[in-house]
Amino acid sequence: MIKKSILQKLRKDYLSPSLSLSYEEPLHIVKGVAQYLYDKDGKKYLDAINNIQHVGHCHPRIIEAAYIQSKKLNTNTRYLDEVIVNYAKAITSKLPNDLNICFFTNSGSESNDLALRLARNYTHNPETIVLDGAYHGHLISLIEISPYKYNSPGGSGCSDFVHAIPMPDSFRGKYRGLDTGGKYANELKKILNEIKSNVRKPATFIAESVMGCGGQIIPPKTFFKKAYQMIKNSGGICIADEVQIGFGRLGQNFWGFEFQDIKPDIITLGKSIGNGHPLSMVITNKKIADRFNNGMEYFNSFGGNPVSCAIGHEVLNVIKEERLQQNAHKVGTFLKKMLTELKHRYSIIGDVRGEGLFLGVELIKDKKTLDPEKDKTHYLVNQMKKKGVLLSADGPDHNVIKIKPPLVFNKDNATFLVETMDLILKKV
Ligand code: PMP
Repeated sequence: MIKKSILQKLRKDYLSPSLSLSYEEPLHIVKGVAQYLYDKDGKKYLDAINNIQHVGHCHPRIIEAAYIQSKKLNTNTRYLDEVIVNYAKAITSKLPNDLNICFFTNSGSESNDLALRLARNYTHNPETIVLDGAYHGHLISLIEISPYKYNSPGGSGCSDFVHAIPMPDSFRGKYRGLDTGGKYANELKKILNEIKSNVRKPATFIAESVMGCGGQIIPPKTFFKKAYQMIKNSGGICIADEVQIGFGRLGQNFWGFEFQDIKPDIITLGKSIGNGHPLSMVITNKKIADRFNNGMEYFNSFGGNPVSCAIGHEVLNVIKEERLQQNAHKVGTFLKKMLTELKHRYSIIGDVRGEGLFLGVELIKDKKTLDPEKDKTHYLVNQMKKKGVLLSADGPDHNVIKIKPPLVFNKDNATFLVETMDLILKKV
């Protein structure tokens, strides 16, 4: 097998320097099975971070579905094909009745870009409202609306048609406490008034119902309900970015927007829906889709091809038959409880939050100031990796440990993760 040092050199010689590698000592992973990854020396890692391989690495049923359809046919959406329509029917059956028109794409970014096109075409207006700290993708159109990127090194700040609501973070945000939903919604009211006084046109609001890159943030109750109501009353369009949180990850609900008890006009899907295959989607209602049908064809060379749809359909089947949403709820609740117990023992843990298998552990310097503890977060993530648990850190201050494993994660895995974290925290 190729030596690690040679691999590192080849990567340096031929790949873009703006691609990063995880961990101080990069991993050379050669095999994946369910919730485990194996490096070139056969060392086994518990993958507690990969939310793309949703039903598990190299799931045999997903591989089989890809193989069978690949042997038969792979074309595009310009032919009648039952695999494509059957998948569209199956996925929309998981959604409110009027969210029933599908567009296929190849990445979460492509989905969000298309969703913006649909919304802007509907409102005839580019005004876009986002949550501070949010990430929606790597295309120009999405860097522009992602504070996570435009406010970071290399970013060029907020464009005049973009408006960011302060991150609805009840732990360390502008307003703190669980009853702050109204205060954050009030910030949106101010933005809407400002838009109204300048352009008098409705805007698009795009958000994750539970924030991922923002740091596993669960916005305080009532925020989203009030926000959606205001946007809809002003004639705007609500886009729910489900790229990270959809598909049963939150346990009690299949979709993030259900968790907030809201109904979007457009949803965008990606990551998990193809279990690693580049499949993603935009789903909307007939009114929005019909207005988009203005003479300009929507064609996507790869999006929605029969192989992608066969894979997507099998992912849905596996989630149902292996009861993975229920598992996310059961194991996620167990893990959150154990992490909360750890929080009571270590003052460095400021907050444990999340739902299902989408959890965050926020590290702070002290309980009074709540100042972020970035260095020790980085240290903890690297030590966990050394001991065989893969995690990562995120949030605007890089002090939130993210836990979002394949949904086959079990209670033994959860116990191992917490015991390993305990061992390391003892020495921090
Ligand atoms: N939306 C969210 C919420 C994401 O987390 C991401 C990726 N991290 C994207 C969109 C973009 O998806 P992709 O990387 O597939 O383009």
